[in-house]
This record gives sequence, structure tokens and C-alpha cells, in this order.
Amino acid sequence: PEGQEPLLSVTGLTKLFGSFKACDGIDLTIGHGEIHALLGENGAGKSTLVKMLFGILAPSAGEISWLGGETAIPNPAAARRLGIGMVFQHFSLFEALTVAENIALSLDEKISIADLSKKAAELSVAYGLPLDPDAHVADLSVGERQRIEIVRALLQNPKLIILDEPTSVLTPQEADKLFETLFKLKAEGRSVLYISHRLEEVQRICDRATVLRHGRVTGACDPRQQTPASLARMMVGAEVAGV
Ligand code: ADP
Ligand code: MG
Repeated sequence: PEGQEPLLSVTGLTKLFGSFKACDGIDLTIGHGEIHALLGENGAGKSTLVKMLFGILAPSAGEISWLGGETAIPNPAAARRLGIGMVFQHFSLFEALTVAENIALSLDEKISIADLSKKAAELSVAYGLPLDPDAHVADLSVGERQRIEIVRALLQNPKLIILDEPTSVLTPQEADKLFETLFKLKAEGRSVLYISHRLEEVQRICDRATVLRHGRVTGACDPRQQTPASLARMMVGAEVAGV
């Protein structure tokens, strides 16, 4: 769609916490309209990596390119302006407020609650994310709360949407619904960065996978072309996997 440049590419991205390297020279390229997995065990550095992509953590070293141009992402507002949306692993929602009020608080532009409710309701229908804008968050399930975060991201018409371990809080039925939403985003030419440590769902829904272990990339592949054993080796190392 937008020329031959990949949507996002990072080179040598590194994050130090003190002397500990949570991310160590990560190279990663995400194409247009691709569901790209970031696969790795707990502690591999997945959340740290995407926090750098969303402007929550500053990289210690490395470069980020967006549509072929080197860019800095100093804060989440800058990420959203580029066209990056994020669905966090742990939601930050105000229980006492409604869905629409919560979304309004997080938007960079001011918009009336009435307009916002209408737009949110339209998006929730269009993307198969059932949600009542007037419901109070306190009354909602964790799956519904996640839908708020997805609708909030979609309101800003992102080119890339990042989801950090989204199925960890979902039932299998809710996960299936989420995958349908992701397929729709892909069909529209948007890209998805899908973080997971679950091999089977990555093989089921993702076009590409970048595998992280101890902060380093240990593989980049089409997960459907891999056996579960070969993916497991990239994730945990042959010694541990015993395969
Ligand atoms: P993952 O999301 O793959 O489970 P994380 O990116 O959350 O992994 O963490 C990678 C490593 O970095 C872990 O060892 C974690 O304890 C460490 N880490 C993450 N955030 C911080 C932080 N703010 N300060 C110190 N260490 C951190
Ligand atoms: Mg994580």
C-alpha cells in the first residue's frame, strides 16, 4: 500500500535496566497487513520491547524506522500520532466511570462524550467487539475491559496495533472472537504485533514470528512452516526443550 518500505523496522534495539539487558540488540521488521508474533517465554523481553515502540520506555541503544524513516518515539502520544495503537496486558481503567468516559480521558484530542459514544458503538459493531459505551467499567468482565482498550486504539485509526498477551485474560471463546477481529484488521491492510508465549495460537493466527529469548532474537520465521518443536527450541533453547 504505502510503497515498498516496511511499516516498522527496528535495528539493534537495546534496553538496559542498570547493567541487566532486558532487550539486547533486537532486529525486527513488520510488513503491511501482517499479523506478526513476538513469541517468547516469561522474562524474554517482549513487554520491554513494545514499551519502547509505544514511547513508554526510552531505548538505551538502537534505531526505530517507521515507513522507512528513522524516528524517535518519546511518549505514547507520539506513538499514536505515527499510527501505533497499544492494548496493554494490564488495563488502566477507572472503575467508577463509564466506557465512553474512560476512552475520553485517554484521547489526545477533545471530543464530546455523545460523539465519542456514537463512534465507539460504531467501531464495536464493525469489529465484533460488543460493548455498551454507557456501561460502568466496574460492572464489566475482563474480556469486556479488553474490548474497551481495543476500541480506544481503533478510534485513532492505527496502522499498527500492538497487543500484549491478550488471550491471557480471555476464555477460549473470547479468544476466537478476538482472532476474528485481528483478521479483519489484517484484511484492511493494518498490521498487528501480537505478543504471546503460546505456540499453538501463534501458529494459528500469525504470518510471521520473531522469537525472543533472554532479550535476544533467536528466530524469525513463518510460524506455520515450523514444527512446534522447532519453535520451542527458539523459545527455550534445545537444552531445555529436549527436542
Ligand atoms: P516478557 O514480557 O517477555 O515476559 P519483560 O519485558 O516484562 O518480559 O521483562 C524482561 C526482563 O526485564 C525480566 O527479567 C524483567 O524482570 C526485567 N524487567 C522488566 N522491566 C523492568 C524494570 N522496570 N526494571 C528492572 N527490570 C525489569
Ligand atoms: Mg510481558
